[in-house]
Order: sequence, then structure tokens, then C-alpha cells
Amino acid sequence: MDGKCRKCGKDLTPDEIGASRKFINRGTTEFFCLDCLAERFKVSRQLLEDKIEYLRQHGCTLFPK
Ligand SMILES: [Zn+2]
Repeated sequence: MDGKCRKCGKDLTPDEIGASRKFINRGTTEFFCLDCLAERFKVSRQLLEDKIEYLRQHGCTLFPK
């Protein structure tokens, strides 16, 4: 894993890597920043942030507290 967005090259946060696993699939080898994930899924970045926060609060292991 190179820790950079596959599309725009931005350095990724652990949340963005977790989000790529969650929203693409757990075995993905491609990781994207939230902006590029939002574009890929045609949703707002805010929606992804809300989902991440929701999952974190519910103990999702992809998003440690
Ligand atoms: Zn990106």
C-alpha cells in the first residue's frame, strides 16, 4: 500500500484508507482520498464524512477512534 490517492496522488489519512476499504471493498489495493471517493460514487464528501463518523461510533474496525 503506498498511502497515496490512486487518482490525484494526495497523501491519504488512515480514515481515507479505511473509507476506500469500506466503500470499494475490503481487499482493494486501490485507495482514494475522500474527494475522489465522493466523485466516484457521485455523492458529497460530507456524506462520506458522516458515514465514517457513524461507523466509527458503531465500532467499525476500519475507523479506529
Ligand atoms: Zn484523490
